[in-house]
Amino acid sequence: RLKSEALEERGKALEDARAEADRRALDVEQASRYKSEFLANMSHELRTPLNSVLILARDLADNDTGNMSDDQVESARVIHESGTHLLALINDVLDLSKVEAGKMTLDPVTIAIADLVQVIRGRFAPVATDKGLGFQVEVDPDLPRSLKADRGKIEQIANNLVSNAIKFTSEGGVTVRLSLTGDGHVLALSVADTGIGIAPQDRQRVFAAFEQADSGTSRQFGGTGLGLTISRKLARLMGGDITLDANGDKGSVFTLLLPLAGTTQLPAPRCAPEP
Ligand code: ADP
Repeated sequence: RLKSEALEERGKALEDARAEADRRALDVEQASRYKSEFLANMSHELRTPLNSVLILARDLADNDTGNMSDDQVESARVIHESGTHLLALINDVLDLSKVEAGKMTLDPVTIAIADLVQVIRGRFAPVATDKGLGFQVEVDPDLPRSLKADRGKIEQIANNLVSNAIKFTSEGGVTVRLSLTGDGHVLALSVADTGIGIAPQDRQRVFAAFEQADSGTSRQFGGTGLGLTISRKLARLMGGDITLDANGDKGSVFTLLLPLAGTTQLPAPRCAPEP
């Protein structure tokens, strides 16, 4: 009898411990949700006044009336530049808190791959050229012509990867290459650069929030340290991922992988079956 009582007591203690662990897990989950909601609300509240600051600082920096001294114009320019950085940070925090709170939704549409590539090329080729860099694009001719996915999010990720590739490649640093390939199941959008590269021990870290490969370099290049974190979370939300490798002995290759399931398998005209 004593033995069975002791056993019963132990069972109860175990049950209590389990209930306590469940309660704690719930508390942590709730705290994390509160944190994300707080950040999302705060980001909204910060954006409105900041937009006014940016517009007014830009007006002052343009000095249309010609009433300001050079120093005053320079101060207005610095206010605008710092405000722009702050706005980028707020937008990134808002995106991150949305994904983490499970509130980021997907809006899948049919995307013509050629059109997507054209948009990215149109946006970044001039930026690369300005920096004395080549901008190459290669599209596997066997890729399906279109895929069904959230176009805005794919563009956001591509913008982040390509702008980083240009940012971290010094002037005249050869070339940035955007390539799209596929194996029937997965679309791979790779951005390869011949820039400063990322040491093997930093390759996981750069995907963590606010992490930059090197604090000295980051001061030189600016940025929020959130772009890759958000990009990888968005890629995973779409059922894909982002990988990072060295580009031979110079630079990096970031690859966005996306499932091709649900794509419209339109054969390219050259492989269309004979009528
Ligand atoms: P940000 O560029 O705003 O700092 P990201 O999350 O996009 O933030 O990138 C994090 C860090 O990863 C960068 O600060 C940089 O150290 C490193 N990084 C990203 N892309 C590249 C690249 N193409 N070449 C070298 N380093 C890179």
